[in-house]
Amino acid sequence: MQISKYKAVVVNYVARDDSGNILDSSDADGPIRYIHGTEDLIPGLEAALEGHSAGEKLSIRVAMEDAYGDRDESLIEEVPIANFPGIDSIEPGMKFQTDMDDDVPYIVTVTKVTKKHVTVDGNHPFAGKNLNFDLEIVEVREASSSEIEHGHVHTDDSHHHIH
Ligand code: ZN
Repeated sequence: MQISKYKAVVVNYVARDDSGNILDSSDADGPIRYIHGTEDLIPGLEAALEGHSAGEKLSIRVAMEDAYGDRDESLIEEVPIANFPGIDSIEPGMKFQTDMDDDVPYIVTVTKVTKKHVTVDGNHPFAGKNLNFDLEIVEVREASSSEIEHGHVHTDDSHHHIH
């Protein structure tokens, strides 16, 4: 079965930056599971997987504009440490969900902590990077109607999510 619209796809992957450093991998985070054609995946990756089948291995390069885009320095903010009540120690690398713009939740990463201020960066960690993927397609099947409706793959251990 080839990857096409509304197929549920499972892919093992290693993602490297242009220097060869591993940014992320299925060994660390589990495979990518997505519904093809629902914009669940970065566009460059989805386009490269189109038409391929389970068992195939691909090495592809996704330019930053087809991945997470360029970095936006306006997404870096310094906020008072008092805005993080109830958290004992805030350290660089911690991630928080925020809804400071238009009530759309997004993830910020702490990049710097002083006595009074915390610097957070709202850029995706891979923004500004070209991504080099080694992919192995594990599974391609028809997505269920509820998976298509939700825009993500359901697995045996993820029935209890909230929509
Ligand atoms: Zn769902």
